[in-house]
Amino acid sequence: MTRPTASGLSPARLIRPLVRGLVPYIPGEQPKFRGLIKLNTNENPYPPSPKVLDAVKAAADGRLRLYPNPTAQPLREKLARFHRCNPDNILVGNGSDELLAMAVRCFVEPVARHARRAPALVQFFTPSYSLYPVLADIQGARQNPVPLNPDFTLPPLSELKRGKQWDLEAALTFITTPNAPSGRGYGTDQLLKLCQAQRGVVVLDEAYVDFAQENALSLALKYPHVLVARTFSKAYSLCFQRVGYLIGHPELISALHKIRDSYNVNGLGQIAAAATLDDLPYYRANFRRIIVTREKLSRQLCKLGFTVLPSQTNFILVRPPRSAAADWLQKLRDQNILVRWFDQPATREYLRITIGAPREAQSLIKAVTKYLAKTSSTSP
Ligand SMILES: *Cc1c(COP(=O)(O)O)cnc(C)c1O
Repeated sequence: MTRPTASGLSPARLIRPLVRGLVPYIPGEQPKFRGLIKLNTNENPYPPSPKVLDAVKAAADGRLRLYPNPTAQPLREKLARFHRCNPDNILVGNGSDELLAMAVRCFVEPVARHARRAPALVQFFTPSYSLYPVLADIQGARQNPVPLNPDFTLPPLSELKRGKQWDLEAALTFITTPNAPSGRGYGTDQLLKLCQAQRGVVVLDEAYVDFAQENALSLALKYPHVLVARTFSKAYSLCFQRVGYLIGHPELISALHKIRDSYNVNGLGQIAAAATLDDLPYYRANFRRIIVTREKLSRQLCKLGFTVLPSQTNFILVRPPRSAAADWLQKLRDQNILVRWFDQPATREYLRITIGAPREAQSLIKAVTKYLAKTSSTSP
């Protein structure tokens, strides 16, 4: 519905050509109704610690009229103690998504439409986080999606170099580790080799690292061109508050500060995140619960004929038997169970299932068993 403006011209002409051509990122659906089992966006089934809820409630008073701390200083100090680094190694964002976008704006040179220079390169593996190509497009950057091995493991550096598609000069390389949507963990030794070879900035997106066996934070504190992105959303049950952070060399961090909105992290989010760090044992118990549920659910789905990829995250990628993944998506939805399906060549045969509470996992098994019984009785 593009109604003409007062001048009689279409509003579309007011929008930059690049923006007119953008295809936006599509987040998982967020319906919320009673009885819905929501296993589609990797939210944590356990609530934030009671101490976090108390801190947020205590802060919700007349002080809401005041601006929050512009650099999230108290939270950065706590994070620095937690990770044994300095506050100037840390930048807090409105979710880690904001920080990924800022990294593109900070390190990737856009090119004017008629310039002779080729646009800078944003590089990432596929499949991985589907936000990266969208961020590259917004910046007007070239993108270099490099396929993972067919079993979603990371190709070794020697192979990447031989394959020639991998670009050691890319301005910015995103590596989701552990990976989404595959759930695969990558060894720090392998990441180290990739980082050492890379001449541009490398962002290790560790959104799910608390469910993994190892993390690569040491690389961000050792190499000036490596940044690690973390979030309070997944492991720390705080999606609603939108708090993430980057760790890296003070020079890159202060460059990012320059392009940051003055008050990019809302006050209640800062308070909730800081209170989270005061109650880590509560969260560590939840990580263990989620991992136990993950391993049990994986075994049960295997027995029912699913191919289940090993996971180092709070979700599993599975290939369902008999019917197409898209049909399974619909059949589960008919039973009020929401999972995620990515309609891309490498992932089309799979469903991504968030690890919920044990009761939700059992409802899923029940629904799967029911559907399998139906398909076997109707097939010849
Ligand atoms: C969820 C997710 C994020 C974003 O998390 P927010 O902090 O909520 O913005 C970043 N990277 C990956 C791989 C994710 O899955």
